[in-house]
Amino acid sequence: MRKRTELIHGGITGDPHTGAVSVPIYQTSTYEQEDIGVHKGYEYSRTGNPTRHALEALIRDLEEGERGFAFASGMAAITAVLMLLSSGDHLLVNDDVYGGTYRIATKVTNRLGIEASFVDTTDLAALEQAVRPHTKALLLETPTNPLLKLSDIAAVAAWAKSRGLLLIVDNTFSTPYWQNPIPLGADIVIHSATKYLGGHSDVVAGLAVVNDSELGERLHFIQNATGGVLGPQDSWLLLRGLKTLGLRMEAHEQNAKELAAMLSVHPSVRRIHYPGLESHPQHELARRQARGFGGMISFDVGSGEKAADVIRKLRYFTLAESLGAVESLISVPARMTHASIPKERREALGISDGLIRISAGIEDSEDLIEDLANGLAD
Ligand SMILES: *Cc1c(COP(=O)(O)O)cnc(C)c1O
Repeated sequence: MRKRTELIHGGITGDPHTGAVSVPIYQTSTYEQEDIGVHKGYEYSRTGNPTRHALEALIRDLEEGERGFAFASGMAAITAVLMLLSSGDHLLVNDDVYGGTYRIATKVTNRLGIEASFVDTTDLAALEQAVRPHTKALLLETPTNPLLKLSDIAAVAAWAKSRGLLLIVDNTFSTPYWQNPIPLGADIVIHSATKYLGGHSDVVAGLAVVNDSELGERLHFIQNATGGVLGPQDSWLLLRGLKTLGLRMEAHEQNAKELAAMLSVHPSVRRIHYPGLESHPQHELARRQARGFGGMISFDVGSGEKAADVIRKLRYFTLAESLGAVESLISVPARMTHASIPKERREALGISDGLIRISAGIEDSEDLIEDLANGLAD
């Protein structure tokens, strides 16, 4: 099945009992048993719920994995996946990882004896230097936030396999519509479904997909034991959002390409980061490992004052954290999503005060371009 068909026909569709085309919202916590221990596959909704199960089957299919899981947020999904590790294990993480992942690895799981090192995952030699005898897993995002750096998933997966490490890829930015880490060799894919998968700024959710049934059993055990599951209403909102993922991703990308083309020649823009531009240092890798370049752009206007000035003049870009929604969103990472990172570390990573991040929405691109050109004008 091709991706756009799979978005409509993948996973579990409809309701066999009534013929309802839309999966019902099974708003129930428990299930009647016919006799002691005899039931229809569901006992209690933390363990399993049919609406959540339909979503879990769909993300499994979209990511070409073995089993899918839905959680109450992206961070709940990441927490559950990290619970596969034990005290004494060491974890490698990409150095410009999402702030929430940095926080959990340095303030929560470290207290449980799981130490994390942050490393440039675009560089296999750096990985080789950072690996230790007790390293058990490597977690990476590609493209990254906000600089849109890419790691070569197939090359990193081959390296991780040679070292016996579990490779976990956060695929939030690309979505399964553009990129599938599991066929490239990843063991686990995670998503903040709050972003593109939900797509409408109205649900907080997380998903995980594993590539084999043994890992699936282990993650289901953790999901049920720790309990951070997604409720039936929110599972249904994601099922609904996912049907239009293909249409939305095409529109996000078209708008991002047009905005990137305008920004890349604008005199007020010092640097621009967008994998779809031929000038992006990893443009060829982006072409090779993904089917699209996505809807995220970042660019530097030289100073924090100029960035604030641009944003104040905009009409269609909502100043907000988050990304992947139908409405265009704009942010200044140094003062918003990445404010908790010390300034020296931010600058070393390239997250300067004048860096602006855009999540291109699906509005008319001419309106977006006019608006941004107006904002950038002195
Ligand atoms: C937002 C985000 C998360 C966290 O997801 P929540 O749904 O906010 O808990 C994790 N990884 C990436 C790349 C994100 O953008």
